[in-house]
Amino acid sequence: MTHRVTLIPGDGIGPELAEATRRVLDASGVAFDWEVVDAGEAVMAEHGTPLPESVLESIRRNRVAIKGPITTPVGEGFRSVNVTLRQALGLYANVRPARSIEGLKTRYDDVDLVIVRENTEDLYGGIEHRVGRDAAESIKIITREASERIARYAFEYAVANGRRKVTAVHKANIMKLSDGLFLDSCRAIAAAYDGRVEFEDRIVDNMCMQLVQKPDLYDVLVLPNLYGDIVSDLAAGLVGGLGVAPGANIGTEAAVFEAVHGSAPKYAGLNKANPTALILSGVLMLRHLGEQAAAERVEMAIRGVIAEGRTVTYDLGGTAGTSEFGDAIVQRLAVPATGATAPA
Ligand code: NAD
Repeated sequence: MTHRVTLIPGDGIGPELAEATRRVLDASGVAFDWEVVDAGEAVMAEHGTPLPESVLESIRRNRVAIKGPITTPVGEGFRSVNVTLRQALGLYANVRPARSIEGLKTRYDDVDLVIVRENTEDLYGGIEHRVGRDAAESIKIITREASERIARYAFEYAVANGRRKVTAVHKANIMKLSDGLFLDSCRAIAAAYDGRVEFEDRIVDNMCMQLVQKPDLYDVLVLPNLYGDIVSDLAAGLVGGLGVAPGANIGTEAAVFEAVHGSAPKYAGLNKANPTALILSGVLMLRHLGEQAAAERVEMAIRGVIAEGRTVTYDLGGTAGTSEFGDAIVQRLAVPATGATAPA
């Protein structure tokens, strides 16, 4: 079966990473029919918007997309294409696994966390205004519906993936109404999983300290949008950095797979950035498409290349470029299954 998938290369380092990812996925043994569409500042002049309706239509039609990062101007200019896309398609769950990779020198060897971030509300609604010249106000929206939906997703994910515990992360000691509602909603959903999946909660500042000192105590974390964004980068740092942190945006109508990292403009066009995070996002996509064996093969090939350490990018201590890293993964995929994990 051929899978028709929307491919958004993005900007900054996005196109180079998307190219490497596409080559690796094409070498996975699964047949893809890529529908390539563009979004971001480059399409503004032609379409009058950084997110043309045709991009959303393509994703709605194919129901699955993989995208490179897209730059958002800081403090001015258009709204984030990434956030708008998640909201427009109702991609309510942002799932970001952070798992240690053999061969990467990090503080811990056995990190295995899954961040489940609410993806549609909180401070990302873009509702802000100035109050006079010298003050500004941003509105944080938390609803029971979205909070229960993300909590249910986290528990269902835990059950489906054999995970033992869900930790709800909040600041309900200070934001008693908004974060209080998020926590209440998580508790209500947790009750339905009593005896099957453990539940606890942590205040977000303490959570950050605990994750840095004792990540092995945690399993699946469920968080409102902003804390989820920040804690994802922290978790990425525990397992080797943004270059190796994948993600999935899941909704009822569509799923969009993308790395945790952004467009890293200073590395754009230099063939320097690490393609692992986007390729691992591709592995999440293969699983979503039901292509478990291919997902396993690609993941093993990436892990094999990293463990060997000869053809990795600067952030993993190597000198290889994006495309050479991608080539090394493709070559490993060409080795028969039993040899995929063995040293070359
Ligand atoms: P960033 O994630 O782009 O980069 C931060 C730093 O992390 C880089 O300077 C680099 O040192 C490192 N890094 C990131 N990706 C890497 C990779 N693949 N390989 C090696 N090193 C890597 O974060 P930023 O600089 O804060 O944001 C840049 C732009 O990206 C902003 O416009 C931001 O809005 C956007 N952004 C987009 C997304 C998205 O598309 N989903 C996500 C986050 C940020």
